[in-house]
Amino acid sequence: MSNRTTLNFHPDGTLFIVSGPSGAGKSTLIQRVKKALDPLGVRLHFSVSHTTRSIRAGEQEGVDYHYVTEAAFEAMAVAGEFLEWARVHGNLYGTSIHEVRTRLDRGEDVILDIDVQGARQIAANDALRPHSLSLFLFPPSFEELARRLKGRALNSSKDIEMRLQKALSEIEHGSNFYDYVVINDDVDIATECLKAAIVARKLTSKSALQALQQMARRFKGETNGSTA
Ligand code: 5GP
Repeated sequence: MSNRTTLNFHPDGTLFIVSGPSGAGKSTLIQRVKKALDPLGVRLHFSVSHTTRSIRAGEQEGVDYHYVTEAAFEAMAVAGEFLEWARVHGNLYGTSIHEVRTRLDRGEDVILDIDVQGARQIAANDALRPHSLSLFLFPPSFEELARRLKGRALNSSKDIEMRLQKALSEIEHGSNFYDYVVINDDVDIATECLKAAIVARKLTSKSALQALQQMARRFKGETNGSTA
């Protein structure tokens, strides 16, 4: 990893949302972008969602998801503990307020991997919207989406059919609340696109301006000191 440091990037409590159909490549892209941006000083904290689906081989509690029962999930939903939640392919998924809010309030940057229903709920949240950036990721074709879903060997053919239908309706019913749209036909290019969107957003942040102001104050102090 590079040891370079830069004054350009500062954590400022931004919520990055990567959304789109399952099979679009969201989790791969998030991992790659986290790794690519970390050396620049852009630290993205992945928000670990709660889900009622069963744990898959290779997954870890607290790393990939918090695995909970339907009853526990519903109790959390009733208690208002989710920033957003949705039923996706028959299972419940939700982003806990605690997971995200405490980090944003501390000024850290957070990244979410959620479906379109969840992204829509966050877009409708007036308090969060100004501090968030959302990106819709889509595979290059439906044939490719079907191929990826089959290749993952995680889903039954009925499940794959359901996921394809859902992807179709996600496009049809307009994803016009997204800030960016990326077609994942080349994972390197898609990674660069997500990285570019995040970097551009970070450069508009007030915290970068604060770094300049601090520099100006220091410079003024030193100049005054030397002329006194
Ligand atoms: P999988 O079961 O394959 O890990 O995820 C299925 C879908 O659920 C993916 O599209 C993923 O983005 C979405 N998902 C994961 N966590 C959440 C969440 O907290 N909220 C919502 N709305 N969707 C989620």
